[in-house]
Amino acid sequence: MIRGSCLCGAVKFEVIRFVGPFELCHCSRCRKATGSAFAPMIGVEASDFTWVSGREEVVSFEAPVIEQPPGFQTSFCRHCGCTMPSHDAAEGWFEIAAGVLDDDPGILPDRHIFVDCGPSWYDVTDDLPQLTRKELIRMRIAEMKHARENSSGASAHREEGKK
Ligand SMILES: [Zn+2]
Ligand SMILES: [Zn+2]
Repeated sequence: MIRGSCLCGAVKFEVIRFVGPFELCHCSRCRKATGSAFAPMIGVEASDFTWVSGREEVVSFEAPVIEQPPGFQTSFCRHCGCTMPSHDAAEGWFEIAAGVLDDDPGILPDRHIFVDCGPSWYDVTDDLPQLTRKELIRMRIAEMKHARENSSGASAHREEGKK
């Protein structure tokens, strides 16, 4: 079990495993939400996530939509302000800021994203792939297309099976 907690200890959660991706986001909103050069966001399935304590202490703020909904949401402990998983992290897939984990998440970062939006005082010095905002959007669209083609391919197979 991988444990996570806030600065004051009121909020605690556990994760069975992280499915990823594990992305280091340099966008200005992630920087503000974490106060860091980038936010290390790690993907988890809701079914692998459990609140241990203090779920009711977590409050959220949704920043205005810049381009397309959903808006940027940040969640934090109302006592200590520590970044926490979103309150409505009960369904599907979501991300956790890896800095609040108390144990090894078991996976390593995949890539830097929004590298063109990062601060002037920080240069990436590792060998991970670096995607600009534009490149990331292109990748996400390709991933969605791929997923759609795969699922329509599967249903075509089922149709064939019926004949
Ligand atoms: Zn706290
Ligand atoms: Zn971001």
